[in-house]
Amino acid sequence: MPPALCGGTFGTDRPGIGAEGGERMRETDGHPSGARPLDRWLPAHMAAALDRLNDAGFAAFVVGGCVRDALRGVVPHDWDLATSALPSQVKELFAGVRVLDTGIRHGTLTVLLPEGPFEVTTFRSEGPYLDNRRPASVGFVASVEEDLARRDFTVNALAFSPRTGLVDPFGGQADLEARLLRSVGDPAGRLREDALRIMRALRLASVLGFSLDGRLAEALHANRALLARIAPERVGTELVRMLPGAQVLPVLLAYPDVLAVPVPEVASAVGHAQRSVYHRYDIWEHTAHAVAAAAPSALVRLALLMHDLGKPETFTVDADGHGHFYGHDRRGEEIARARLGALRFGNDVTETVAELVRDHQRHLAPENMLRWLNRLGEKRLRLLIEVKRGDIAAHAEDVAARGLADLRLSEEALDAALAQQACFSLRDLAVSGHDLMALGIPQGPLLGETLARLLDAVIDGELPNTRESLLAAVRPPVSAAAKAILT
Ligand code: ATP
Ligand code: MG
Repeated sequence: MPPALCGGTFGTDRPGIGAEGGERMRETDGHPSGARPLDRWLPAHMAAALDRLNDAGFAAFVVGGCVRDALRGVVPHDWDLATSALPSQVKELFAGVRVLDTGIRHGTLTVLLPEGPFEVTTFRSEGPYLDNRRPASVGFVASVEEDLARRDFTVNALAFSPRTGLVDPFGGQADLEARLLRSVGDPAGRLREDALRIMRALRLASVLGFSLDGRLAEALHANRALLARIAPERVGTELVRMLPGAQVLPVLLAYPDVLAVPVPEVASAVGHAQRSVYHRYDIWEHTAHAVAAAAPSALVRLALLMHDLGKPETFTVDADGHGHFYGHDRRGEEIARARLGALRFGNDVTETVAELVRDHQRHLAPENMLRWLNRLGEKRLRLLIEVKRGDIAAHAEDVAARGLADLRLSEEALDAALAQQACFSLRDLAVSGHDLMALGIPQGPLLGETLARLLDAVIDGELPNTRESLLAAVRPPVSAAAKAILT
């Protein structure tokens, strides 16, 4: 399965943070943290589900990311339940409701209530891990505390129920307040159990804007090679969830060695001087700043992550000592295609990103906007503009200021062309193939060529896009001899 592309994050909406940023709760003030009435944020159907389990004598809590998000004042995007009830008992209690065996071997069911689905997992602990990604066994346990102990970070090891209140055996709430990501237990050991936690740590740091506890940070560097054992699509999913984060910059600057496991070309970009008056940063610093300066769209930021990875291989220095990177866009395109393919991104994502990398240097002159619209279509062209915005912003200051002003002019020209419903594709042309056939042009290559020439003439402003002018242009010209006879 290709990496999951979470809703919103692949869009281009500029100020909007993708789904990850989360909608802020409207009522976060007035409650000293710790006394925030979590149950007020619990949807009625989740409270009812907890009640149903409790009334049957089982312990039950909302748990993990939803408690973390509710405590920091962000509406949870989903609610997970943990309970002492076994899956079969959960099914009995929710007889009459559709229940899916999502991960029944690990005790996870999905209950499909009319108000929305939720996952419910039986309290469990995990046996020893054998291969850095999977426990050898999972066992059901009686207490929520034991269940919380298997979770990755203290801020994710929180449980809540209206009857019991907050269950926080590892100081998760204090870490939330300190905006600190800390492992439950020994970080190196926890990362060795499941190396995906390396990417989860970077993703959560970027999205939540938390700093990493010193021991965890050290363990991320030391254990990074284990990431190679994780299913590539899971690494890819965490990568695209990390990139739109509001605090992606410090993560990229501090952990290129980790990112170089899935994307090895990152390693040679780190510390690579550009020897150019156009740049204030080395290649990797430039990349990190470009990603952070762009719209929080995973597609745009994935393209920016890759856009200059062809530079180290194409670096040359001229007689004056100036650095050049001829063809780095083409090389970058190849690298993007190879690495995103290896991370099992779908063909659409891989191709879009590879082509954005290929085009990132192209000048989008305002007078050529119809041409660009014709070549890329509006959606792709807007993505390219966002890629260029990030790239240009991370150049030398004066270059960036001028470049960004130019880009705004291009964008205005694009908006104007679209507002005028200008013609830039065959679909918009005032004549169709049928019209030309009616003039006697046979169906076949000539028909296609003629339409393409007409479109070119309209885009270049040589012909108005009217039926009259276009048909007149293709009618066989009256020969000079005929003219002489006629006049
Ligand atoms: P989000 O839903 O925003 O991605 P989340 O923390 O809820 O964040 P999920 O993948 O939904 O992430 O996982 C739910 C919970 O399961 C986490 O909060 C954490 O407690 C636990 N968890 C998830 N993945 C792991 C892991 N690899 N190792 C240990 N615990 C994990
Ligand atoms: Mg979750």
